[in-house]
Amino acid sequence: MKNGKLAELIEKSPRTVFFGGAGVSTESGIPDFRSENGLFKALEKYGKSPEILLSRSFFDAHPEVFFDYYRENLLITDVEPNSAHLALARLEEKGKLSAVITQNIDGLHQKAGSSRVLELHGSIYRNYCMKCGRHYGIEKIKETTGIPRCECGGIIRPDVVLYEEIPPEDTFDQALDEVRNASLMIVGGTSLVVYPAANLLQYFRGTVVLINLSPTYYDSIADLVIHEPIGKVFSELDV
Ligand code: ZN
Repeated sequence: MKNGKLAELIEKSPRTVFFGGAGVSTESGIPDFRSENGLFKALEKYGKSPEILLSRSFFDAHPEVFFDYYRENLLITDVEPNSAHLALARLEEKGKLSAVITQNIDGLHQKAGSSRVLELHGSIYRNYCMKCGRHYGIEKIKETTGIPRCECGGIIRPDVVLYEEIPPEDTFDQALDEVRNASLMIVGGTSLVVYPAANLLQYFRGTVVLINLSPTYYDSIADLVIHEPIGKVFSELDV
């Protein structure tokens, strides 16, 4: 079996944690706004990069433009989990995976059935009023146009970490605990350049598996490197 080595590492590991990035979701059809195409689309329509459009200072200055870009590029719900999401959920169910740590905001791990999901960059499914703190579901953003407003008049914003903002401390601390206590860390669909991915890896002392289509800076420190689509790798795991 092609990924027998990965299966063996998971089987032997007393505690495994998965850390995933955008590549996990692109195979479900969610475009990566950080990709070359994402950059091109943003520049063409807005004359600004995704990093600018999704920054806190831009949100504060031009919320209507922010929500236009956000609704079109990040608020994607008509997608299904792929083989990687499903295999990770089954591994958790079997007691072979302690947590999924993700940089994705699309909720696909929960949709696949994972229950311990640490969302470092938040989720499109959670939204709140910036003035009174009231929580709102995704509908409030999806079914409105322009700037979504709370009954109190405040702006409802997604509970998503924007550029210039720091990830929620409690979620990051939980992720750090998971990483410190794990013996095997599977990193998938990320080139590990986005904060805080690389930082988490620094705290890890066990076996590292990297699954990414293209080589990453960290390939040399990994115990196993797989340059294949992550959905394919997990579908071959047979879990
Ligand atoms: Zn309010």
